[in-house]
Amino acid sequence: MENKELYFLNKTADILIKELDAYDLVQELKDVLSTYIELEDLNVYVFDPNTSTLRNYAQNWCVIDEVMAVDVKEPIYNAYNDIHGNDFVINSKAFKLPHTISDVSFKINSLYMPIVKNGMVFGIIELKFVDQASVNMEFLYLMKIFGAQISLKLQNIVLNEQSQINVEFHDSMKNIAKIIETQYEINYIVPLIGEMLDRFISDHLIYVFLKQNDEFSLVWPKACNDERVFDSLKELDSDYNYILTNDDKIGAFPLFSDDEITGCIVARSMIEKLSKRDIDYLEQLTRQAAATINRANSYSTILQYATLDALTNLNNRRQFETRLSQEIAITKRQNNPLCAMMIDIDYFKKVNDTYGHAAGDEVLRTVAGIIKEHLRESDIPARYGGEEFAVLIPFTQIAEAQKVGERLRKAVEERPITIYADTENSKEINITISMGLAEYNKEETGEALFERADKALYEAKKNGRNQVRLA
Ligand code: GH3
Ligand code: MG
Ligand code: MG
Repeated sequence: MENKELYFLNKTADILIKELDAYDLVQELKDVLSTYIELEDLNVYVFDPNTSTLRNYAQNWCVIDEVMAVDVKEPIYNAYNDIHGNDFVINSKAFKLPHTISDVSFKINSLYMPIVKNGMVFGIIELKFVDQASVNMEFLYLMKIFGAQISLKLQNIVLNEQSQINVEFHDSMKNIAKIIETQYEINYIVPLIGEMLDRFISDHLIYVFLKQNDEFSLVWPKACNDERVFDSLKELDSDYNYILTNDDKIGAFPLFSDDEITGCIVARSMIEKLSKRDIDYLEQLTRQAAATINRANSYSTILQYATLDALTNLNNRRQFETRLSQEIAITKRQNNPLCAMMIDIDYFKKVNDTYGHAAGDEVLRTVAGIIKEHLRESDIPARYGGEEFAVLIPFTQIAEAQKVGERLRKAVEERPITIYADTENSKEINITISMGLAEYNKEETGEALFERADKALYEAKKNGRNQVRLA
C-alpha cells in the first residue's frame, strides 16, 4: 500500500473511534473519503425489518420512501437486494472481489457496500462519484476494509443505544424502589412509573391501568380519549400474554403478580406500527414495572397492620380514622370542644421536581417534626395523604386552635430545612404551609368535620397560601 492509502485508513480510524452523532459521523466519513477520491455523495442506509424499508441513518432514521422519488430510491433497494452474498454492487451490478489484485481499472458511477452483522446484511453504504471516476482493484480492496470498519461501528452504535437506555431505566427503577420503602400509596407510585415509561418510550403514548375491584381503571395519565385503548384491555386473557390490535398500533402488556393480572400498560403508536423492538422493550419494561408495583402492594398490605407512617412517624391514615371516631364519641358524651386541622405543604411538587424525591421526603419529615413540637400530648397528628397532615385537637375551641395553627405556620416558614445534609449537595431551603381549621358541631360526623377543615384549607390556597383559614 502506498502512503495515500495508509493516510486514508488512518484518518478513517480516527473518525471511528470518536464519539459522533449519526449526522457528523457520516459527514466526516464523506470528507475523509473525498481526500482520496472525488466523491459526490456518501450515505448510510439501514434496513428496518419491521417495515421492510431502508432508513437513512444520518437523517434521523427517516424512511427513504418518504423523501425520495421512485426512480431515486429504486436503485438503492435493488442494490440492497443484490448485495447479499457479494462484495459490492457497482454501477448496478453485483460484484465479487477476485482473489488476486490485478491492475485493471474501470469507470464507476455508483458503488454500494454491505453493512454486515454476524454474516447478515443489515444495511448498505452508498458511494456516488462525480462524472464517472476511474478506479482500480486496489481501490476496491480499500473500500472493503472501509466498509467493514463502518459495519463494526454501526453495530456498536445500535447496541449501545439499546444498552444505554436499559441502564438508565434500571437506575430509575431502583430510585422508585427506594421511594417505595417510605411510601406505600400506589396512587403516588404509579404516576412516577407512568412518567418514567413515557420518557423511555418517546414515540408512543403510554397508559397505565390498575385493576381495582376487578375492573381496570386508568391511573396514568389522567385521561384517554381513544376507545380502542379500553377495548384492548378486554382482549387480555389469563395467559398473561401481551396483545396487539389488528393494525399493530396498540399493544396491551399485562402487569401481573404470581397468580393474577394486577394491571396493564397500554402503548399506543401515533404513526407507525409497534415494531418488534418496541414490543421486546415494552415487555421488559412491563415486567420491571410489575415487580415494582407488586412490591408496593405487598408493602402496603404489611403496613395496613401498622399504626404509624413509616416516613414521618405520625399516625397513619388508618390509625387516624380509628382515633377520630373514638374522639368524636368522647366529645359527644362529654360535650367537650374539638377542632380539626388540615395542613398542606405549599408548592410541594416544586420541591420534588427541583431537588428530587429524597429532598421532598426530608421536607415531609421536618414538617412532621415541627407539627409534633407545637402540639400537646393529647393532640392527634397524622399523615393524611402524600403531603397533607391532619390534626385532631381535643378540648380546644377554634380561637385557641387558631393561635396554635398560626404559631405552627410561622415556625415552618422560619425554619430552614437542610436537604442532602452531610453531602456535597447539602442545601437549605424554605417552605410554607397552608392550613384549614374547623370546630366540631354536635350534629356532624368526623368525616364532615374534616371536610369543612379541608374546604377552609382550599380557601387558604386560593387566597395565596402560607395562611390559616377558619371554616
Ligand atoms: P399546592 O401549593 O397547591 O399544594 O401545590 P403542591 O405542589 O403542593 O400540590 P400537589 O398536590 O399538586 O403536589 C403534591 C405532590 O406531593 C405530588 C406528589 O408527587 C408529592 N408527594 C406525595 N407523596 C409524597 C411523598 O411521600 N414523598 C415525596 N417526596 N413526594 C410526595
Ligand atoms: Mg396536596
Ligand atoms: Mg401541596
